[in-house]
Amino acid sequence: MQIHRRVSLAPLHALACEVIAECLIVIENEWEFQQLPQVLSQAPEPFWMLGCGTNMVFAQDFPGTLIQFALTTSHLLEEDSSSQVWRVGAGVNWHQWVLQSLGMGLSGLENLSLIPGTVGAAPIQNIGAYGVEFVDVCQGVSLVELKSGQRQYVSAQACGFAYRSSHFKQGKRWSQWAVTSVDMKLSKVFIPQISYPDLQHLQFSMESTLSAKVISDTVIAIRQKKLPDPKKIPNVGSFFKNPVVSSEHLQALKKEHSNLVYFALPDDQYKLAAAWLIDQCGWKGKRWGLAQVHQQHALVLVCNDSAGAVSVMELAQAIVEDVWKTYGVVLQFEPMVWS
Ligand SMILES: Cc1cc2nc3c(=O)[nH]c(=O)nc-3n(C[C@H](O)[C@H](O)[C@H](O)COP(=O)(O)OP(=O)(O)OC[C@H]3O[C@@H](n4cnc5c(N)ncnc54)[C@H](O)[C@@H]3O)c2cc1C
Repeated sequence: MQIHRRVSLAPLHALACEVIAECLIVIENEWEFQQLPQVLSQAPEPFWMLGCGTNMVFAQDFPGTLIQFALTTSHLLEEDSSSQVWRVGAGVNWHQWVLQSLGMGLSGLENLSLIPGTVGAAPIQNIGAYGVEFVDVCQGVSLVELKSGQRQYVSAQACGFAYRSSHFKQGKRWSQWAVTSVDMKLSKVFIPQISYPDLQHLQFSMESTLSAKVISDTVIAIRQKKLPDPKKIPNVGSFFKNPVVSSEHLQALKKEHSNLVYFALPDDQYKLAAAWLIDQCGWKGKRWGLAQVHQQHALVLVCNDSAGAVSVMELAQAIVEDVWKTYGVVLQFEPMVWS
C-alpha cells in the first residue's frame, strides 16, 4: 500500500491544476484492501475515491484523503451461446478493457471507445457516448464501505442509472462506498448501434464489413478530431450535462427561440443541447483568466495554466448564470467538484 502525504494533484487529474491533497492512498491488491479500514481510521477526512481524475475538478487544496484502487484483475464469470459476463477490477483502464473485449470477439462496448478513466468510475456517472451507456452492459457492481470494510453487491437494476448519473453519484447513501469491480455482459453476436448522427453513415457499409472494431475505430477517429486530448490541453471533457426539461418548458422555450436544439426522451421529457445554449450565448472560445471555453467545443472548458483552477470555476459559474438569464435553464456540472 502506498501512502503519500501532501501530494501534488497536478499529475493525478485531467485539469492538471497545482493543488495539494493532504493524503493519497493507493491500494494494489486484496491484502492491502483488507488493511484499508484500519489505515483510514488514522487518515484525514473527507475520503474521496480517485480514478484517473478525468472527471474531477479540484479548485483548491483537498484537506482529506484520496483513495485509488489499482485493482486490475478481470475474469470470466458466466458464459452461454450468445454472451459472456466479465468481472473487471476497478483499476483497469476503461479504453484498454474496451479494446481487450473487442479482441476477444465480444461486442457491446465499441461505442464507448476512448472514454478516458477507469472501469471503477464507469458506474458512477453511467458513462455514455454515441448512443450507448454503461447501463446497457452492466449486470452489477461490487462495492466496499471504506471505513468498515463491509462488502455489498448491487444489481444493475438497483444502481439508479440515469443520464450521467447513478445512486453512487447522487445523495449520501453510497458516498462512503467504493466500487471494487463491475460485472459486464458482452455479446458474442454483433448488433450495431449506429443510430447516433455521427455514426449513421455506417449503415451504408456492406453488412459483411461492418464490425464492432469498425465502429470502435470510427468512434476513436471522431473523438480524436473533436475533443482536445487532456494530456496536451488540460480538460475534463464535457463540463456541463445536457439539461432535461418538460414538454411545457420546451414549448415555452421554442416560442422564443425557434432554432432551439433538443432531443426527445421517453416520458415526454426533452434533452436540450447544452453546447448549443452555451454557443448561442457567445461563450465558445472565450477566455476567462487562465481558463477558456474550447474553440471547437462549447461544453469543454480548458485550463491554460496549472494555477487556473479558480479561473475554471469562475468561468463555469459565469456560463451557468448567463444561460439561466437568457434561457431560464439551469446547467449542472458533470464532473465532481471540490471548491
Ligand atoms: C477528454 C474527455 C472526454 C470524456 N468523454 C466522456 C464521454 O464521452 N462520456 C462520459 O460519460 N464521460 C466522459 N468523460 C468523463 C470521464 O472520462 C468519465 O467520467 C470517467 O468514467 C472518469 O473516470 P476516472 O477514472 O478518471 O474517474 P475520476 O475522474 O477519478 O472520478 C470520477 C468520479 O468517480 C468517483 N470514483 C472513481 N473511482 C471510483 C471507485 N472505484 N469507486 C467509487 N467511486 C469512484 C470519484 O470519486 C468521482 O466522483 C470524458 C473526460 C475527458 C477528460
